[in-house]
Amino acid sequence: MPFIITDPCIETKDTACVDVCPVDCIHPRKDEAEFAAATMLYIHPEECIDCGACVPACPVAAIYESIDATPAHQKDLIEANAIYRNGDAATMDAAEAIVKKHVADHADIMAVPAAERQAAHARF
Ligand code: SF4
Ligand code: SF4
Repeated sequence: MPFIITDPCIETKDTACVDVCPVDCIHPRKDEAEFAAATMLYIHPEECIDCGACVPACPVAAIYESIDATPAHQKDLIEANAIYRNGDAATMDAAEAIVKKHVADHADIMAVPAAERQAAHARF
């Protein structure tokens, strides 16, 4: 079961998870062309080895260990993680479209500062 990045990554995007991932399956990295344009980072579901190292590294608790563990309001972002392929503009556009729709659909959640957003999800 792949790990999943969710909306506290938006506005944070500090790549702390990238630095600890042993298989380099989180993209885009800072040295990749897509980094500036990406709204958040994505975990490649087939390359992730479920080691869990990224979870404590994330300063805003944006990463969940499974689809089941991902909160209801964030489940739309599972697909964004699933389809993003670094270096493929079409999949980046598709993933970013999901993220932008998520931001538009959840203005209440996104108004919460990123550092408090994970804890705030239970209120929505
Ligand atoms: S669980 Fe491990 S392999 Fe998967 S994204 Fe996190 S650090 Fe990388
Ligand atoms: S550590 Fe968390 S906030 Fe930082 S890039 Fe990774 S998922 Fe996003």
